[in-house]
Amino acid sequence: MKEARFWESAGEAKVRCRLCPHECLINPGKVGICGQRENDGGHLFSRIYARITAAALDPIEKKPLYHFMPGTGVLSLGSVGCNFRCSFCQNWSISQNEAPTEELLPEAAVGLALRKRAAGIAFTYNEPMIGLEYVIDTARLARAKGLANVLVTNGFVNEAPLAEALPLIDAMNVDVKSFEEDFYKKLCGGRLAPVLARCEQARAAGVHLEITYLVIPGHNDRSALYEGLARWIAEKLGPETPLHLSAHFPRYRLQAPATTPSTLMSAQMAAGRLLKHVYVGNVSGPGGDNHTPCAGCGAVLVERRGYDVKPAGLGPDGRCLKCGAAGPIIVKPKWKT
Ligand code: SF4
Ligand code: SF4
Repeated sequence: MKEARFWESAGEAKVRCRLCPHECLINPGKVGICGQRENDGGHLFSRIYARITAAALDPIEKKPLYHFMPGTGVLSLGSVGCNFRCSFCQNWSISQNEAPTEELLPEAAVGLALRKRAAGIAFTYNEPMIGLEYVIDTARLARAKGLANVLVTNGFVNEAPLAEALPLIDAMNVDVKSFEEDFYKKLCGGRLAPVLARCEQARAAGVHLEITYLVIPGHNDRSALYEGLARWIAEKLGPETPLHLSAHFPRYRLQAPATTPSTLMSAQMAAGRLLKHVYVGNVSGPGGDNHTPCAGCGAVLVERRGYDVKPAGLGPDGRCLKCGAAGPIIVKPKWKT
């Protein structure tokens, strides 16, 4: 265990964790809602520092990030636990269970990423921000070795902890699970408003940001929700922010049917009226191709068929090879340019 950050004593050996908006009051010997921050003798500790359930070299598109270093691989690290209880969790075996872990200290994680010739490290699979101490220590070493840092998060974290991590993070994907509070309350055990605020915070800090929305039939698949989310993204994050609409498959406790390609296409059309880049994911067949065109001449910059990615239209500076227009793809972290 490692002593945690962002907590304070609350009297009688209790502690108040300030890492996420749950702000758990934790009795001695107990853990917070995430199950991984423990009050030991009136001090708060992280139980998951350097405790890893998965370390895999994934295409960066799998995070998903489509506009950041396309075609590269990132060493993806997962631990255990989550501060949400999503009844549709696709990773419930590690987010809601005490899965077995192995130690991977920050130095070893960076060494592994370099040996695997990864372009960066992604903190992902379970909710990484409940293990903020490990994210910060590992990301700092990774940056020093020339690696990019990617955060895949539910965004349910307080402002101050995120502010500490952001200078080390190059790109983020935030899961926005619905565009109504009721869904967060009933299906996730969380709240939407702090998630939206953290997205704005990341954008203001200049971190590359993409949003994912898992479309669950009968629960968050109304066009008013897609439109509300797309309008909010356009106004607060910018219409160039990529939105990934992802297909749901029945997992864990929620037995909603799988999302059909036609439902995803309708969502893509609704959101695409307000946003420039709306992709569909977790689906094959028509609508499963997600190319990125040049805003200047329309040439294909990045061709994607599933995880087969060809950034053949992009120059080394990220400009269109055909017309020379800049954007919207970032080919390397800002600190490398
Ligand atoms: S990080 Fe965990 S312990 Fe801390 S407030 Fe959030 S759920 Fe509670
Ligand atoms: S936030 Fe993600 S990892 Fe956590 S319970 Fe929900 S879907 Fe699972």
